[in-house]
Amino acid sequence: MAGSPAGPPIDPSADPPAILIRDARLRASTAARFGIDPAIHVDIVIRDGRYESIAPAGAETVGAAVDRTVDAAGGLVTESFVNGHLHLCKVNTLPLVGDAALAAYHGAGMGGAMTAIELAANVKKLYRTDRLLPGIRRALGRGVEYGMTHVRAFADTDTTAKQEGIRAVMAARDEFAGRMAVQAVAFPQDGVVRDPGAADQVRQALNDGADVVGGIPWIEFTDAGMREHIVAMMDLAVEFDRDVSMLVDDAGDATLRTLETLATETLARGWEGRVTAQHARAMALYPDPSFLRLSALLRQARIGVVSDPHTGPLHARVRELRDHGVPVGLGQDDIADAYYPFGRNNMLEVGFLAAHLLWMTSGPDLEAIYDMITVDAARVLGIADFEIAVGHRANCVVHRYPTVRETLAEHERPRLVVYHGAAVAECA
Ligand SMILES: [Zn+2]
Repeated sequence: MAGSPAGPPIDPSADPPAILIRDARLRASTAARFGIDPAIHVDIVIRDGRYESIAPAGAETVGAAVDRTVDAAGGLVTESFVNGHLHLCKVNTLPLVGDAALAAYHGAGMGGAMTAIELAANVKKLYRTDRLLPGIRRALGRGVEYGMTHVRAFADTDTTAKQEGIRAVMAARDEFAGRMAVQAVAFPQDGVVRDPGAADQVRQALNDGADVVGGIPWIEFTDAGMREHIVAMMDLAVEFDRDVSMLVDDAGDATLRTLETLATETLARGWEGRVTAQHARAMALYPDPSFLRLSALLRQARIGVVSDPHTGPLHARVRELRDHGVPVGLGQDDIADAYYPFGRNNMLEVGFLAAHLLWMTSGPDLEAIYDMITVDAARVLGIADFEIAVGHRANCVVHRYPTVRETLAEHERPRLVVYHGAAVAECA
């Protein structure tokens, strides 16, 4: 199943043809919102980019004629997939790096995470926008095929990569605009204090249209440097009116507390609901009282967490965060780069792996996993009106299996992928 590079061009400004998806099965949680018995199949009409009607199959509620009918044949229809974290400038760069960085990143307790980042930095000396674009297109093309319609895409923006990575990511964002929403994050991967000049590179990227301010405070050498990093990037976010995504505490070091600082600086600026935290692996080592205090602070600052359990041996405390009301999404994180050798941009595969690594395998657990690659990830990224509901923008997938369990087990391409009401990928 080789990924086609970019798929057919779609005009994002044109009204897509109206679609009737007949004989669809909804998730129980979705059916409950409509007061429909989940055993009853439904017909879904999508018109002018939005859900026009959702009604029991066969009812005379379809209204005006549609341009196209798709028979779901009792397969599950759900919201499409949201990828909360992907290093898009690095995808498919593993052949340039070699195995040394992988070994350092995944070594005992992730103590060598910083070494891995330094080894990976060598690749950036080769960065050129036109060299990066083919690999990026391949990764995004596969994402569309696998039903991913939204992705938060990080691009190293520092004194080594300069503007090459973020330019490639923004060019791909614009190219794919009719098929998926790419949020380009200007990300100072090697630090802000450690890498003087990185903040200016991030500023330039924001001036040129980057969507989100990135950060990685734990990489600084001192606690004071970590705070300075967070303050500098948060100040840029306020100045440019942008959301923030930071990689926090991504090493096996229980003393790391940059997520706590990020939350306090969020509250200080009134930026609640506009900040997300990626990785946050060190919390796995926190004593329970510290973790509980942090959870309360995250709730207050309305910070969601994106976890990527398959790309490292330590994981954010996903189940407990959810239990404490902190929204959690999952991310692909890496695709064939210095940190991870696999990755197809298939969020069902990410969910399948997370179910094992987080040991979330009961029926309700699998529903939670599915939420974390769809509706909860959308909440974390601040994507409004994402749930299947009349009047909302239609971003959905038609699966060939009737249940979440079977869909995760097989993690196959959906039969149909709909983005903003347009069919953007199909698989017979
Ligand atoms: Zn990452």
